[in-house]
Amino acid sequence: MARSCQQLLVCLCFLGVCLPRSVSAYEPPAQILFGGDLAYPPLEWLEKNQIKGFNIELAREVARIGGSKAVHQLGNWPDTVHALEQGRLDVVPMYYSLERSRKFIFTQAYLYSSHAIYALPSAMRVSSIDGLVDKTVALEEESFAHQQLRHLVNKPNLVLTSNTLTAIEAVLQGKADYAVLASLAAESLLRQHEWKLERMGPPFWSRGYAFAVNKNKPELAEWLQDSLSATIANGQYQTLYQKWHNELEPAQRNNRWLSFFSTGFALLLALLALGGSWYWSLKRKVEMRTHELSEALVQRESAEQELRRAAQFDAQTGLAKLPYFIDQLDDYFHSHQQPVKQEKEILVLKLVDLDVIVRTFGFSRAEMIVSALASHLIKLEDAFCSYLGRGVFALFLNKGNALALFEHLSSAMAESDPGLSSQFVGGSAYWPQHGRSAGKLMRHAETALAMSEVRHRRWLAYEAAMEPSRVDLDIISIFIDGNVQGIFPVFQPQLDLRSGKITSAEVLVRWQHPRLGLVPPNVFIPLLENSGLIEQVTEQMIDEAVRVAVLLRKRYLPCCISINIAAYDLIETNLAEIVSQTLVRYQGLPSDIKLELTETSVASDPQRVQQVLGELSERGIYASVDDFGTGYSSLSYLSLFPIRELKIDRSFVGDMLDNPRNHSIVRSTILMARELGLVTVAEGVEDDQTLQMLKKDGCDIAQGYVIARPLPEAEFIEFMCAHAAQTFDISQFMKG
Ligand code: C2E
Ligand code: CA
Ligand code: CA
Repeated sequence: MARSCQQLLVCLCFLGVCLPRSVSAYEPPAQILFGGDLAYPPLEWLEKNQIKGFNIELAREVARIGGSKAVHQLGNWPDTVHALEQGRLDVVPMYYSLERSRKFIFTQAYLYSSHAIYALPSAMRVSSIDGLVDKTVALEEESFAHQQLRHLVNKPNLVLTSNTLTAIEAVLQGKADYAVLASLAAESLLRQHEWKLERMGPPFWSRGYAFAVNKNKPELAEWLQDSLSATIANGQYQTLYQKWHNELEPAQRNNRWLSFFSTGFALLLALLALGGSWYWSLKRKVEMRTHELSEALVQRESAEQELRRAAQFDAQTGLAKLPYFIDQLDDYFHSHQQPVKQEKEILVLKLVDLDVIVRTFGFSRAEMIVSALASHLIKLEDAFCSYLGRGVFALFLNKGNALALFEHLSSAMAESDPGLSSQFVGGSAYWPQHGRSAGKLMRHAETALAMSEVRHRRWLAYEAAMEPSRVDLDIISIFIDGNVQGIFPVFQPQLDLRSGKITSAEVLVRWQHPRLGLVPPNVFIPLLENSGLIEQVTEQMIDEAVRVAVLLRKRYLPCCISINIAAYDLIETNLAEIVSQTLVRYQGLPSDIKLELTETSVASDPQRVQQVLGELSERGIYASVDDFGTGYSSLSYLSLFPIRELKIDRSFVGDMLDNPRNHSIVRSTILMARELGLVTVAEGVEDDQTLQMLKKDGCDIAQGYVIARPLPEAEFIEFMCAHAAQTFDISQFMKG
């Protein structure tokens, strides 16, 4: 027995549960508080107010050898686990699992045991966990079995109990059909109470059983490991094990004859039995060999389980990997096809600023945020979660719970570690409404997520309209082929509210296609930006803007023309070079043009943008922030870049006289911009009252239909000749 035990302990080290060994000068506390379950024989239990069990005696011995004293506190299992997590207990013996190893420090395992399904003899036989779908199953809350079952997609209805005894009682009282329990404790309780529950098949989930120590006490854990090793080495462990042998290995005692005959040595032994004294020694050898073989099998099965688990679950987060997630969902959809009782939702969730966090604070900070979010996701009882990498998670849950879940996760993140709270966006697709396979639903949920990001929304559900249309593909293929016909500029004048003169304008692209007609920029520009094709439009607009500005200046009508620049232009092209060469070609001055960028493109690659804008401002070319107020960034963030001007978005300006909230946003933006020395432009000014109010609020420049619509080149030059030199009079212009 001693040999097989030691062999077992050596094998358990293979599972990676051993701690690094070191000789430390650690002084253990006078008393160590061990927790445990009230009713978990033969390992620990309370009988007539007396604490008993193998764990209790082992803990006493281990503590004594290390120069301390074990004090025991038994209670409900979930409370015991929480108390260890919160440091109210020092040590609790339990089954090792990956999920638990993230919360506790484990010593080397000192026992090895498995789990099984139990039910009344009349129950339908099930031989594995897969057979429990749709059944009611009693489980000890926070037990190893609970952890395994709660992450299944096809999970049974769970009845959670405070210990193994109450789980058995739930089955006896008809509250549950089956119970999944650690077989050592379950069988001991069944024998003790003579209850007629049966094991429904072979045991499974063979695991190491070890001391778990509170995560904040690594020195205590190391000391405990050393003391445990000493207890094994000095033979004390074996003595204790022999004492509890009948309790710890009851199956071997009960099935002694069965295993004995089944080995094939029975006949041989029967003959040898005639030889008298040989009988006992050989019988013992056969028993030991049989036992060793069965343990080797159990260990191999367990190692295979570990490998399977490593293939299915992500090591950092403990969440399912994508292929396993997809497989599990497809299994679920397959077995719940008709009729659909509960509609489901796949939610893809993304930490928005993870790239920025990596660049600013490094990978470890980003990993902490991902792990923190994963730790909240893993606790969700009603969701099956997967980690797809780079801050993206997928969740499978009942339909309609996404926004409530967002609230819950935001506050859980903020509460658990305020320094780590982070923003996330999401997109959902519904089963069966949007598709019947996991692959298709994942694609739709990703489309909805991308749309949330583009529209700066927190969460959106998938709609067919989000898919790229035939026209979109048509447009992209026209630009890919090159030599696009019908692109031309229009110019929208801007009024300087301080001088009352027209001193600037914005160039806007127009596209008149022979087959598609006049295509609005809102349709084709986002497509070109997202497919990396915007460069050709930008280059053409830079060319037109410089040419027209030089032409006007030569007529003594100086006009600075703004050009819209996309994130792609800033990051992927050599913008500073393109602009400089165009200026040289037309003999332009830096003050002839300025560049309009959006907040989102500034935030997408801050370092690169800072470098490009730096080069441009050294050459005297200034930048303006377009659509201000609609992105994620703040004014204080933007002030880190060499920027001269803010364009307040037309969604705030258009209705500011009827919408006090928007008016106050406009006013406070003007005030803050002035403090930072920035010029403000209000766009989308459609009437004279708004124009007058903006002037009163201290806005510098206005752009909008009240001054002029975007005009083709000839009309724009005519407009400039008529208005640029003198003070612009709206009433006169409106009459005209
Ligand atoms: P944006 O840069 O915000 O341009 C201003 C848009 O507001 C223009 O629409 C203009 O016609 C419109 N607008 C001007 N005044 C008023 C007004 O008083 N009321 C209302 N309701 N609208 C007004 P447009 O020309 O359709 O351009 C739409 C968007 O397309 C632009 O928004 C810009 O994001 C993009 N875009 C246009 N031309 C270019 C370009 O050459 N390059 C790039 N990258 N984007 C461009
Ligand atoms: Ca613009
Ligand atoms: Ca704008």
